[in-house]
Amino acid sequence: MFRMDYSHGKWNEPEIVPYGPIQVPPSLSTLHYGQTVFEGLKAFRNRNGGINIFRLDKHAERMKHSCERVCIPTVDNETFIEAVETLVDQDRDWVPKARGTALYIRPLIFATDSYIGVRVSENYSFLIITSPVAAYFKEGLNPVRLMTSGSFVRACPGGLGEAKTAANYAASLLPQVEANRKGYSQVIWLDAIEGKYIDEVGTMNICFVKDGALITPPLGGTILPGITRDSVLQLARHWGMTVEERRISIDEVMSSIEDGSMTEAFGTGTAAVISPIGEIHHKGKSAIVNEGRIGPVSQKLYDTITGIQYGEIEDPFGWVRTI
Ligand SMILES: *Cc1c(COP(=O)(O)O)cnc(C)c1O
Repeated sequence: MFRMDYSHGKWNEPEIVPYGPIQVPPSLSTLHYGQTVFEGLKAFRNRNGGINIFRLDKHAERMKHSCERVCIPTVDNETFIEAVETLVDQDRDWVPKARGTALYIRPLIFATDSYIGVRVSENYSFLIITSPVAAYFKEGLNPVRLMTSGSFVRACPGGLGEAKTAANYAASLLPQVEANRKGYSQVIWLDAIEGKYIDEVGTMNICFVKDGALITPPLGGTILPGITRDSVLQLARHWGMTVEERRISIDEVMSSIEDGSMTEAFGTGTAAVISPIGEIHHKGKSAIVNEGRIGPVSQKLYDTITGIQYGEIEDPFGWVRTI
């Protein structure tokens, strides 16, 4: 694993050390107050045996924004990129070969002060760990069943929603467990103020295809700026599709699935890339999207993004760095 510590106002020498437990005091401030951020990205083995890292610079940039929101000293992009590349290069034999598999890369930074008072920590650790991961969907892209978040909210304006920080995920666990108990796989998060507009789905961004246009909620503080989301929007624009980044209400979604104008819905994220939505349940009513099957836009986005990741098709946007 990669390790670099922060003390006396600066990041110290980076090193690569064997993966293993780290000893921490019970007073470690992160354990109490959650001053921590993370990232999640993947490396893929291409046909020539090289390793493709997807949108590394964008992940470096996002980690910096997450750090700023929770008062963690930032790591500059070059250091982040070099850290990931050096570690993945050293771990190259761990990058699995089968199509659909990848090496998952998890950078994280956490406060390491041994101090019980609530304050900005003076010490931090930046670690990067990796793990081979299997194909996300074993039998093709299986549409998921979702329900709206009821009385729970994930993020409110001015809160932490756009930072990849621990608190957001702690807040999402109970609603997720309750959705599972009711037979749904994920929660659709509605906005915290009116409980009306769609923010995200589980730990993914959400997109819809309505009257041939791609619609996704705008980034505005409560939504995590997904890099898969950004890739999807760039591709859709590149193909000449109409792209609307606008607020979309759950009522509009339910009624336009019903009247047939909304033909596809899907989540986007590094883990699954595209996760088709087959059913949405809201206030006692269910709407079935595209007869519960994956639609053509979702399939084309999935094929194109994964094709670029594995180096099978041209990468017109410079998304991949090969090592
Ligand atoms: C990480 C994450 C996403 C997806 O981001 P990607 O960069 O596409 O993986 C979306 N929503 C939440 C809440 C996330 O944590």
